[in-house]
Amino acid sequence: MADCLFCKIRDGKIPSKPVFEDELAFAFRDINPQAPTHILVVPRKHIASLNELAEDDAALIGHLHLVAQNLAKSEGIADSGYRVLFNTNKDAGQTVWHIHLHLLGGRAMAWPPG
Ligand code: AMP
Ligand code: ZN
Repeated sequence: MADCLFCKIRDGKIPSKPVFEDELAFAFRDINPQAPTHILVVPRKHIASLNELAEDDAALIGHLHLVAQNLAKSEGIADSGYRVLFNTNKDAGQTVWHIHLHLLGGRAMAWPPG
């Protein structure tokens, strides 16, 4: 997707602070962190939102969670706790239309979320 921010980050056309990459996914620090650790785990494949997920993407979405698990360990927040989430569409506040798993931790978080 030529006009997609996260495709451009994937392709190195826009700089980021990368923390991980493999053949399926890449991860970088959120530019506007909402917690001491705030990383976005993104599939290389362009999928606009969770609503566009297909059956064939099931393993890919599982993989993103394993990447988040490993990053939580390397960030030192696996034991203290963390949150992973996809914002989907307007009411959740989605602003970038390339699916991304937020990994947030390093502070206590409220529930229910705002
Ligand atoms: P969402 O609101 O769930 O679509 O999340 C989009 C996230 O992308 C927000 O948390 C933004 O702070 C983050 N973001 C936007 N532009 C960049 C960028 N250039 N580099 C890193 N993170 C970004
Ligand atoms: Zn994209």
